[in-house]
Amino acid sequence: MSRVGYGTCPECGDVPGHMVDEGIGPYEFWGAKGVHHDWIPECDLCGETMTEFEEGPFDA
Ligand SMILES: [Zn+2]
Repeated sequence: MSRVGYGTCPECGDVPGHMVDEGIGPYEFWGAKGVHHDWIPECDLCGETMTEFEEGPFDA
């Protein structure tokens, strides 16, 4: 599953982007299990972190 949308890239301006999960994923801490997610919007063109982002379904 991909999360895509539109946003503002500091390098490219208003361009399409996608969310990337930079979380650490599954973890266990003193027997407590969890999954850490840290979703960050990234430019489709240069990979820079976007300053504005709006997730869309654009494939409808
Ligand atoms: Zn860019």
